[in-house]
Amino acid sequence: MEKQAYCKVCGCEQPYRLSSVPMAGRLKDEVYTYSGHEGRCRVCGGRVQAAEIDEANLRCLYDLYREKKGIISLEQVRALPGRYAIGKRPLSKLLGWGELTFTRYYEGYMPSYQYSEMLKRLYEEPAYYKEVLEKNKAALGSARSYEKSLRAVEALLSMAGKECETKIDRVAMYLFYRCEDITPLMLQKALYYIQGFSYAFLQEFPFREECEAWAQGPMFKEVYMRYKDYRYDPGAVKDDFDVSVFTAGERAVFDSVINYFCCYSGKVLERITQNEAPWLAARGRLPLSAYSEEVMDRQTLGDYFQEVKVKYRMVNPGDIRAYAEDMFRQCCVVPL
Ligand SMILES: [Zn+2]
Repeated sequence: MEKQAYCKVCGCEQPYRLSSVPMAGRLKDEVYTYSGHEGRCRVCGGRVQAAEIDEANLRCLYDLYREKKGIISLEQVRALPGRYAIGKRPLSKLLGWGELTFTRYYEGYMPSYQYSEMLKRLYEEPAYYKEVLEKNKAALGSARSYEKSLRAVEALLSMAGKECETKIDRVAMYLFYRCEDITPLMLQKALYYIQGFSYAFLQEFPFREECEAWAQGPMFKEVYMRYKDYRYDPGAVKDDFDVSVFTAGERAVFDSVINYFCCYSGKVLERITQNEAPWLAARGRLPLSAYSEEVMDRQTLGDYFQEVKVKYRMVNPGDIRAYAEDMFRQCCVVPL
């Protein structure tokens, strides 16, 4: 279903097309120019009105303002409660602020420079957060919320001591967090689509690891070895995940792959990937089930997904859906 918005010229709701346009906005007596979006009616070409587009443009303006003034980003503000397992009001009280002050920042209000510096430091330095937590724990009023938050910050501190995890691990963790019952084979396919569609949409491969054309489809060997004994365990899945480690563009791709590919079983995904050019090219003349650890050429992979993007006239990562459904029909549905 195409999105619709009100077109003044046509006098009714019409499907529209988004395009980037230079925009200027005034904020606190300064004018900022940025790249915003406008919707054009697909029928008459006139500009459509949609609160959604206006909000996104306003968000761009505010993001730019924050960046220019060195104010903490909204993403980081929103990541704070999850990062330290603390509610918005308790956090505000912990900092000695009005009970709803942090909630307002969370909703998008711009903090003053001084408050912003405080939030930034808390975000960047778990050790500092722990210090504040210990000092002001009486303000929380509940031993349980203090202990919960303490556990979270200690986990962060102990992680910081360890070697930095790689991007592919972080994305795998996100997949575990988002998909309730992902299996090791599904995980591999999801990582493969993320590698390909990230290249198509963001012109960049997120993973340095090479993908191999196994009989079971594309596989990132090291990651597979690390997680092959993974079994879904509802108790072990974290109930929060600090998504601010990814950019908005990355997340849009990850989420579309999750929504449109992770709904299929590992077997179905295997069959689909075995019908795609990158895997076929790496396998050459090998029989379907023959053992192989042939490395799939990265550029072939990137080019393929770039072509898919063009062929399906994808504008946003959400458009991945049509391709996923098509491949499922082609590869897995037996005609009557
Ligand atoms: Zn129109």
